[in-house]
Amino acid sequence: TIDPQAMFKLGFLEDVYKERPSKDVVTRFPPEPNGYLHIGHAKAIAVNFGFAKYHGGVCYLRYDDTNPEKEEERYFEAIQEIVQWLGFEPFKITYSSDNFQKLYDLAEELIKQGKAYVCSCSDTEIKDQRGGEKGAHERYRCAHADQSPEENLTKFRDMRDGKYKPREVFLRMKQDITDGNPQMWDLAAYRIKTDTPHHRTGWDWKIYPTYDFTHCLCDSFEGITHSLCTTEFILSRVSYEWLNKSLGVYEPMQREYGRLNLTGTVLSKRKILKLVEDGYVRGWDDPRLYTLIAIRRRGVPPGAILDFVNELGVTTSTTTIQIHRFEQTIRKYLEKTVPRLMLILDPVPLVIEDAEAVDVELPFSPKDPKMGSHTVRFTPTVYIDRSDFREVDSKDYYRLAPGKSVGLLNAPYPVKATSFTKDEATGKITEIRAVYDREGKKPKTFIQWVGTEGSKKAEVRIHNPLFKSEKPDDAEGGFLKDINPESEVIYPDAIIESGFDEVKRRAPWPEAAGESELGKGGPESIRFQGMRVAYFAVDSDSTDDKIVLNRIVSLKEDAGK
Ligand code: ATP
Ligand code: MG
Ligand code: MG
Repeated sequence: TIDPQAMFKLGFLEDVYKERPSKDVVTRFPPEPNGYLHIGHAKAIAVNFGFAKYHGGVCYLRYDDTNPEKEEERYFEAIQEIVQWLGFEPFKITYSSDNFQKLYDLAEELIKQGKAYVCSCSDTEIKDQRGGEKGAHERYRCAHADQSPEENLTKFRDMRDGKYKPREVFLRMKQDITDGNPQMWDLAAYRIKTDTPHHRTGWDWKIYPTYDFTHCLCDSFEGITHSLCTTEFILSRVSYEWLNKSLGVYEPMQREYGRLNLTGTVLSKRKILKLVEDGYVRGWDDPRLYTLIAIRRRGVPPGAILDFVNELGVTTSTTTIQIHRFEQTIRKYLEKTVPRLMLILDPVPLVIEDAEAVDVELPFSPKDPKMGSHTVRFTPTVYIDRSDFREVDSKDYYRLAPGKSVGLLNAPYPVKATSFTKDEATGKITEIRAVYDREGKKPKTFIQWVGTEGSKKAEVRIHNPLFKSEKPDDAEGGFLKDINPESEVIYPDAIIESGFDEVKRRAPWPEAAGESELGKGGPESIRFQGMRVAYFAVDSDSTDDKIVLNRIVSLKEDAGK
């Protein structure tokens, strides 16, 4: 479960609260529904929902949907689902577009106050008004700034009524161009957009408010006490306060925290789209990506993501983290929460000539008896991993080889290999024969095995980093040139022991509130540790007849495949 106390390793947010100690904290998470959320957004979600939760307040999920060209229905649904999957319940789901009429009325109000004007200047002209290249000269205002409120009102209504073409005119706020902050240089408030219908208001509007006009006012309408955003909005704080103050509405407080970046991957929508369209990955939820739907599909539990965000804490500087640090947190989390099973990636049959079938008891966790145990059938023929056998023994080798003994986890006795058969054409071992080693000393190594009764075949997908370098964005020739050709390694003939059925039935195993409360964790909530191999989760490509598994993370850092 999510511990709000733990959520509050939120560092500087303590000071933010002290600036405005409020009995009824209200926050919001305000995504633009123009793409799938990524790992960075998990921080924004944790900060906004976590801050409210800690102070016994509430958090809205507000879709900042003021840009019809870029918004799609599927993103709305995916965003809500992922917020809930992370374990947070929005107090209310709102849309900036709910306020289009109210925002419009306030724009008229601003015009009447002489604090906004309709302008037809070109981008070049505007740039020059703002001081030109690198502030070469003094800033100045265009003649439109001197229009009377009546004239501006007429023109603004004409904008609304479709009497202008897109880009012909726009509404500008009349702020303070003498201020050193560019956010005060008469920013755009409304633009004409007539190409695409809005997903909620259809063709009702021909003009749409900008972020700078919309965000602070929507925060105000919702009674947001603490408006927490990322540091690229620091300069916007002044314009945010200016607009609310000018209109005399309730004033929320904007404060800024540092973004979370991950190296070794790309998060930009344009780049991920390219990877998807060109077939480098299986889709936006490919387990090698760092969208939240991809991380989820890979099997990372929501609690591990929250632990990760928490461990980093919240500061005002950007946090840039390497993937392996994220994986370290996932590993720590899985270690405590998921059951263990035996799985063989690359099976080869081992015939133990003097063995009989017996039932053996396997605990789901060696450390946590509460997880219980299950019975597996040890059979005279078992499968072991090809990599646990060597044709030629050597002194420093501690697994199976002719004349050498190895332990089989929880089996009655160690086994000693006697002979093997090999396919001459492929050079691959097809069978190993062995006998029990009843008298020998305790083997140095115990390997996993899977019996022939009740076991199941599976396709296992091992994911390695999608890119070769830490900074694919800076790679020579672009990020596509940096793709790791071995980012996905498939074992088509893996075998899992019979205990898989129980693991599946009991999933999700005790862990983050999100899933267990929803009680409908997808296939990815069936997770286990394949002993001596890695952590795995069931992939959504699985069917009734075929199990597909993803490697969530290796057991140890740098464990290669
Ligand atoms: P991107 O361009 O990566 O999608 P964005 O800022 O356009 O990011 P929004 O949909 O506007 O994404 O994001 C919603 C909220 O999440 C905003 O408050 C934004 O500041 C925050 N956010 C986005 N990316 C990060 C990040 N990497 N770390 C922390 N917060 C983030
Ligand atoms: Mg944005
Ligand atoms: Mg975005």
